Parts: sequence; C-alpha cells; structure tokens
Amino acid sequence: MINIPKGTKDVLPFDTYKWKRITKVAYEIAHKYNLKEIKTPTFEHTELFRRGVGEGSDIVNKEMYTFLDKGGRSLTLKPEGTASVARSFIENGLFNEVMPLKMWYITPCFRYERPQAGRLREHHQFAVEVYGPNSVMSDVETILIAYEFYRAFGIEPTLHINNIGCEHCRKDYIEKLREYAKPHLQEMCEDCRVRYEKNPLRMLDCKVDVCKDILKDAPLISDTLCDNCKNHFEQVKALLDVLKVNYVADPMLVRGIDYYTNIVFEFVDDDKLLGQNALGGGGRYNNLVEELGGKPTPVIGFGIGLERLLAYMEKKNIEMPNDERVDVYIASNTTNDSYIMYLAQKLRNMGFTVESDLMLRSLKAQFKYADKLDVKYVIIVGEDEIFHNELSIKNMETGEQLKVPYDKLEEFFSNAE
Ligand SMILES: [Zn+2]
Ligand SMILES: [Zn+2]
Repeated sequence: MINIPKGTKDVLPFDTYKWKRITKVAYEIAHKYNLKEIKTPTFEHTELFRRGVGEGSDIVNKEMYTFLDKGGRSLTLKPEGTASVARSFIENGLFNEVMPLKMWYITPCFRYERPQAGRLREHHQFAVEVYGPNSVMSDVETILIAYEFYRAFGIEPTLHINNIGCEHCRKDYIEKLREYAKPHLQEMCEDCRVRYEKNPLRMLDCKVDVCKDILKDAPLISDTLCDNCKNHFEQVKALLDVLKVNYVADPMLVRGIDYYTNIVFEFVDDDKLLGQNALGGGGRYNNLVEELGGKPTPVIGFGIGLERLLAYMEKKNIEMPNDERVDVYIASNTTNDSYIMYLAQKLRNMGFTVESDLMLRSLKAQFKYADKLDVKYVIIVGEDEIFHNELSIKNMETGEQLKVPYDKLEEFFSNAE
C-alpha cells in the first residue's frame, strides 16, 4: 500500500464541509471590506522567494520545496503567498490601477518543516494584501479583517503588535542589537549565531531558553524608532483603543520573514493549545515591491493558517456549522424506479437536497440510514401510495406523519418551511 507523504493530509468527505464554510466566510468578509480575490500559481521561480522572503529566513534556508523542471529551471512550491502577489502586481502592471488595491486569497503553502499540531508540509492560508495605502487607517482596517475572520469561527486570540521600524531607524536598532548580543554569542544557539550575521531581529523570537534569557535585557526597538515610525505606531494603538480592539504592545515581536517593516502583528493563543506559535499574523512590507524590481509601493497584509485554525477549534471544542444536511429521504418498498426518480428530481427542482435508496436496502434499513443522514423529512413510497396517488411524509423532528396528495406536494413543503 502507498501511504500519504509525511506532513500532508487528506480532507475526507465528512470533513469537507468545514473547508466549504471557511471559503464561504472568506468570501463574505472579503466582500464587506471590498477585497478582490487574486489567484497565483502553486510554483514560482526560486529566485522570487530568495529575494522576496529573504535569505535570512528559516523558510528560504531550510524549508523550501525546490526542484529543477525538465527545462532545467529552478522552481519552488510557494512557501507563502505574499511574494507571488508582489510578483503579479509588478508583472501585470497593477500599479497602474487606482489604489488602494485590496486583495485576498486562499492558497496552499509548502514548507519542509517538522510536522506538529496544525503545522503541515502542505498547508493552506487565508491571506489579505492591501496595496497602496501607508495610512494608520489601512493598518487598523487590515487588523479588523483578520479579527473578523477569527470571530466568525468563534475564537478570539490576543492581538500582539509591534513596530519594527522603517529602513532608516531599523538599521540603527540592528547595530545596537548586534552590539548587545556580541559578547553573548558563544552561549547562544547555533541558529542565533547565523541570525546575528544574516537577520539579527530574528534572534528576538528565538525559542531557546538560553537565548531568551540573554535577550530579555536587549535594547528595545521602541527606544530607537524614528519620529515617523513612533507616531505611526502611537496612532495605530490609539485607533485600536477607540475601536475597543484589545492588544498587547509586544516589543519582542518581529515575525519570521525578512520583508516586514514598520507595523507587525500576530494573533496569539494565550492558552498555548497548539504550542507556542501564533495562530496567524502579518504586517507592513513597504519595501517588498521595490526589492522585486517594482516602483516603491506600501503594502500591508496578513496570513492565517487554516489547518491551524481547524486544529485550534478542535482543541477548543468549537463545532463548525454544517449546512450540508439532507432535506428529504425517499424510502421505498416498491420496485417502481421511475416513480421514485421522478419524485426525487421534482423535489430537487424545488430546491431540496434529496437522497433515495440506491443500495436497494430493506425499508427498516432505509429508515436507519435516513436517521444517520439526519434528514428533516422521510417520504415513504409504497405500492399503496402510488395506487392512491399520495405520499406518506414523516417529519423526523416531530415524528408526525401525514398523507399528502401528490399534487399538493409543493404546497405542503412551502407551508412547512
Ligand atoms: Zn523609522
Ligand atoms: Zn537562539
């Protein structure tokens, strides 16, 4: 037998309703905020992620699914969606459109990482990218979209927010941080020693105890921010206050990808039901488009891992609403196939979800199956009913059973609704 590859997952027919629901919620929220859907390919040129996501990130260094195609091109299954959207924005001249250009998507992402709770090698993200504005309002609106998405599934993680500075003030901070870490480097983990060279900010979110201990007294970025960044951050927090969005200003929050500048945020589960990782997050990446060869364009966005969302809901015992219920089951003890199929089609044309006995079971077994389907109505068709041109309809919620003349069927159901 051939098994599924490690870190991937089937979604079985009994669980797909959850994904249908996620997609539905995504479309509804997107529409409310005037976001347009964008679709980008599953793989891109490897160079896009090297330049976009950054050489200093774990994703590029350790986790990419990179391969040569038959033409000898180096391609990579996308490890995240943002770089692809930036590539598309530049390549398709979307900068010529009227800004803001507010986009969303659900995409598969591929990362070679150690599979753990809700973290798969192929996972899916709901993501939003807002191109054009550099305003406090667009930051807050983007955060609200993410919040609304979580709330639609009955969860309310804590918003952590930070400002990691612009290209000007971040340089100063990185120097200070390097200066601080330098005498401790030998005690720090191997990853942090690489980060020290390539992406020192990432040392701040190291999960290794020794490193955490060393860095807890590190200089804070909030003390190094330029006036612009400082003001921007204060205004974002003030607007969140006005809107009664709870947040934690978290000076250690940096996010794992190189392209972030200015505002960054994460949605954190305080109970750590899925370990220490955030449930989702995002931030500003005002230099990404320029780094990929486009005109400088401010962008803010976020991504929410959907398998993690589902795993989290499961831990919290939150049921996903299932609207895939069957309305009517036609139970029969007749071999009059044409009558049954004609009736089933008539009901489907009326808008009902209908199932009938395709397995040729006994009437008793059919009722058992109808129970399992949790149907609202069972229509019983026997020779007697056909002869009298009527139907026996049982309401499975009340147990009430009625005889309804065939030509009064529509009337019965329109009153029953
Ligand atoms: Zn700054
Ligand atoms: Zn470390």
